[in-house]
Amino acid sequence: MNRRRKLYDGKAKTLYEGPEPGTLIQHFKDDATAFNGKRHEIFDGKGVLNNRISEFIFTRLNQLGIPTHFLRRLNMREQLIREVEIIPLEVVVRNVAAGSIVKRLGLESGTRLPRSIIEFYYKDDQLGDPMVSEEHITAFGWATPQELDDIMTLAVRVNDFLTGLFAGVGIQLVDFKIECGRQYEGDMMRIVVADEISPDSCRLWDIKTSQKLDKDVFREQIGNLVEAYREVAQRLGILTETDNALTTGPRLVKSD
Ligand code: UDP
Repeated sequence: MNRRRKLYDGKAKTLYEGPEPGTLIQHFKDDATAFNGKRHEIFDGKGVLNNRISEFIFTRLNQLGIPTHFLRRLNMREQLIREVEIIPLEVVVRNVAAGSIVKRLGLESGTRLPRSIIEFYYKDDQLGDPMVSEEHITAFGWATPQELDDIMTLAVRVNDFLTGLFAGVGIQLVDFKIECGRQYEGDMMRIVVADEISPDSCRLWDIKTSQKLDKDVFREQIGNLVEAYREVAQRLGILTETDNALTTGPRLVKSD
């Protein structure tokens, strides 16, 4: 029986009230959606893997002084996070052309971009998360120019860290998405990295074989998604080859 108050039920995660004021519990589900929710499948073990991979990355970001909402992992599927005010933007950083930029600009998938490019998408499912410019963001007040500066600095620092982390285990970081939030502490406010960083939100290609080790496996239906995510976790040293940490454990009883 789970009596915690559910605050938000997303496509791949659920947020619950945390044990103390200013904290939340982020629960990783096995659900995967693509094409703005038009396709939906459940992959046993995906939530456990994303919880672990995201914990691994956010812990290192915190250690590097890149502020995040992450406090600690609680169990197989859950982590304790700071409550932040989410800025309604998906911040995408691209190093190599793939996905939507290929279609939009007629690039060849796999082409290295002249430099890393940051893009913004307005988070609105009904509108299909349209791409927006810095002008839209500041004009509509989704973020101030100063906040946008901070967001871009964070995005570049996360990109530098992740590029090196993955290169070290034979993986090319093609692109990724982060979300940022405002963390209030007394009179102070700072922008922190929020949400998750996992193969759900990154494009990760094996450097030698170009094999896809991310959510494109599901989008393009080209293999076993959990195996791909497990490979990422193993290479990062999160799971040993024989680790069977994917048993799903007790499931929440649906209250609706
Ligand atoms: N992405 C994401 N959530 C979204 C849209 C994109 O995590 O709602 C990630 C995606 O996994 C990829 C990057 O952002 O790593 C760039 O995605 P793109 O704009 O190419 O869109 P897609 O082709 O995924 O629709």
